[in-house]
Amino acid sequence: MDHFGFRDGVLHAEDVPLPAIAAAVGTPVYVYSAATLRRHARVFKAALSGLPRVHLAYAIKANPNLAVLRLMANEGYGADVVSAGEMKRALAAGMAASAIVFSGVGKTEGELAAALDAGIGQFNLELEEEGEVLARLAVTRGMRAPAVLRVNPDVDAGTHAKISTGRKQNKFGVPIDQAPAMYARLAALPGLDLRGVALHIGSQLADLAPLEAAFGRIGELVRALRGAGHRVERVDLGGGLGVPYRADDVLPTPADYGAMVARATAGWDVELQFEPGRVIAGNAGVLLTRVIWVKPGPENVEGVHPYVIVDAAMNDLARPALYDAWHDFIAVEPTSARMVANIAGPVCESGDTFAMGRDIDAVRNGDLAVFRTAGAYGATMASTYNSRALVPEVLVDGDRYAVVADRVSPEALIAAERVPEWL
Ligand code: PLP
Repeated sequence: MDHFGFRDGVLHAEDVPLPAIAAAVGTPVYVYSAATLRRHARVFKAALSGLPRVHLAYAIKANPNLAVLRLMANEGYGADVVSAGEMKRALAAGMAASAIVFSGVGKTEGELAAALDAGIGQFNLELEEEGEVLARLAVTRGMRAPAVLRVNPDVDAGTHAKISTGRKQNKFGVPIDQAPAMYARLAALPGLDLRGVALHIGSQLADLAPLEAAFGRIGELVRALRGAGHRVERVDLGGGLGVPYRADDVLPTPADYGAMVARATAGWDVELQFEPGRVIAGNAGVLLTRVIWVKPGPENVEGVHPYVIVDAAMNDLARPALYDAWHDFIAVEPTSARMVANIAGPVCESGDTFAMGRDIDAVRNGDLAVFRTAGAYGATMASTYNSRALVPEVLVDGDRYAVVADRVSPEALIAAERVPEWL
């Protein structure tokens, strides 16, 4: 459930009419609902409340805006980060270093050192050499780095290939059959405090069965490691729970997920960690855009439709171009009229197309509309391709709102570039 809805025929974010934001901030602009973010954070937490020991680390890659991070910190969440930049954001938003988990398949030595110096709570190791480097860096600082070993369980998550991470051909984690020997070697390093294992098999999972299968494999691994005399105190179960992108999508709920986790992990006697991203932020945001043109197609050609050219583009919302992702498109002040159209942005690529042959609210030049479910993997993937401004972000909370990320103008981008004097 989210807090975007119609009042007197006008789409609102909570109590704020979207035309008011468009008038004040311009378009395109991401609009987030604080009430929705809080609700998702609480529903997810409540779904896991029956488990004995839980640490929640919001996967900030989904939406790393500082205001969103502050809100999540206020809800008692730590952060899952995958770069020094994300770590800096989590710290800047007020998250405790000890509540931050550092994931990521390519952490540099500089990033590992910075995270050690910051006092990060957990390193999720992706390969044995990374553990050796981390141990060496920790020894030189007189520390023992808290770490878990990320395991690749070789389970097909049944999601889009580009967001599937738990098959043996994916770059993530160490092969599960090699994990026991690697764990033994890493546990023996004086600079490492190896506390357990981690996994994350993919994102936008619409079915819990692959997760349950993966958790089953991790359970066997935990038993094997303990059988070999190792200490296993933590298991990081990653993120991945999918969200409905279409009104009629039926997805497992956080409660379904919590029940499955309780079943799959019964008797593990560990602290369970979770890294939810999309399920928190996805439906808490929309991308507000204005129709520039409705461009008629060739007449009387079967299957050819007009193009609705909006002022948002693939550089603002990359998911359709990257993953053929679906985002519902609805008018901010719809009439009852409908049209079948293609929806595209101004970028000079045919891939800058949000939908083809879609039945949508009828729109005209100048109308406002939104792409729904854009709160996760939206603004954070934005670029300035075609020298377009970097898209701004707004957070609504009840009847107030704030610009929480400025539109970064082409002038500002140009100011960061140099023409060498020898040209
Ligand atoms: N944890 C890790 C290691 C990830 O790579 C990701 C994203 O792919 C997540 C958590 C968050 O996934 P999601 O947004 O699907 O919950």
